[in-house]
Amino acid sequence: MQPLPREHHLADHLDTILLSEARIRARIMDLATEIEANESTHPDLTLLVLLHGSLLFAADLMRALSLPLYLESFRVASYHGGTSSSGALTMDPRALAALRGRHVLVVDDILDTGRTLSAVTRALREEAGAASVTSCVLLDKRVARAVEFEADYVGFPIGDDFVVGYGLDFEGRYRNLPYIATLKPEAIRETRR
Ligand code: 5GP
Ligand code: MG
Repeated sequence: MQPLPREHHLADHLDTILLSEARIRARIMDLATEIEANESTHPDLTLLVLLHGSLLFAADLMRALSLPLYLESFRVASYHGGTSSSGALTMDPRALAALRGRHVLVVDDILDTGRTLSAVTRALREEAGAASVTSCVLLDKRVARAVEFEADYVGFPIGDDFVVGYGLDFEGRYRNLPYIATLKPEAIRETRR
């Protein structure tokens, strides 16, 4: 097989690896233990996965959970290109309706301004009529909060740097990296804001 040209090696665009595969794996095991301890009273727990960013996290988290559970997913977009959250959300009303009466654990990749999760959890409670709503995020950028919101389960608190990998993208790329990393400034320079 021919080696890929250099510009096709995603790793060349990275600055630092913030969280290795091993650290992520270990933390997910602990999160699963925490979730099982608190949520085992809900026989119908539903994991609601916010796509696409939480795809890898949710896949690993659900395999670490031995509770009976349902799976739903939901497309929410808050970044429309660029590296800062726009706050504009799109939610499918039919997807919301499917969650009536359910105990929902929302799974998201990263909590940043808090707009996404506060809007989603409010919609689940007020519009969808979920029986209970909790949230689990892999990453939490506490300093970046624009609205008041705390997740019930947090994998790792991190700083304000823009990160990619393990499901998280920059303009659609880097989701397939198995770890979390920051990008070199030149990789994000040509950005629509
Ligand atoms: P919030 O609504 O809390 O500002 O943003 C949450 C969403 O913004 C996340 O689900 C994710 O899609 C995106 N986001 C926030 N910070 C980052 C980051 O550092 N890297 C990437 N790739 N996405 C981020
Ligand atoms: Mg997202």
